[in-house]
Amino acid sequence: TITNRAERTRGMRFFMERDSLTGLLNHTHLKEALAREMMRGERSGSCLCFAMIDADHFKHVNDTYGHLTGDRVLKSLARLLQERLRRTDIIGRYGGEEFAVVLLNTTMENAGRIIDTIRENFSRIKQRSETGEEFFVTFSCGISSFPGVRDPSELTAAADRALYEAKELGRNRVILMPEPLME
Ligand code: GH3
Ligand code: MG
Ligand code: MG
Repeated sequence: TITNRAERTRGMRFFMERDSLTGLLNHTHLKEALAREMMRGERSGSCLCFAMIDADHFKHVNDTYGHLTGDRVLKSLARLLQERLRRTDIIGRYGGEEFAVVLLNTTMENAGRIIDTIRENFSRIKQRSETGEEFFVTFSCGISSFPGVRDPSELTAAADRALYEAKELGRNRVILMPEPLME
């Protein structure tokens, strides 16, 4: 009985914390995990990076190939992130066609390299619509790092600015938060 109850609680928690399409952490729980890890980082002096990923021209993907196909593309991106990142990294669906990753004990330079490899791999995945048309999808990403910012909201704002710049510069690229100015 005790095992059953423990299993049921675990099962319920899984569904409360996860996004139903991709199985990744949902927005609320990703942010909770981020706050927890930043606090831990402050105590232990370890660094982390926050990557915000946004599928490019996704409205066009839906309009051209249908929403169901769009959903499948999002699932393929979620799967790639889960396969390529480390078990300790925290992966979430941030919103519609946006994903976020917390890379623990990772420098900006390494995070940039890791996500850029995933970007390249994703852009080469041949996607297929319900009616058999083949196409490719890309994503843009902005990365920020801690230390260098004071709190989670500064960290996410910095990643968001970098993502905006990635879009402005033509998409399908990873942009790193600028080095913090000396104070
Ligand atoms: P950009 O490159 O600037 O990001 O362009 P975009 O078209 O991706 O951005 P925009 O914010 O204009 O549109 C986002 C699109 O993502 C529109 C919305 O229908 C689609 N979308 C959001 N969530 C889902 C989802 O769960 N499934 C599907 N299929 N589409 C989604
Ligand atoms: Mg978006
Ligand atoms: Mg988009």
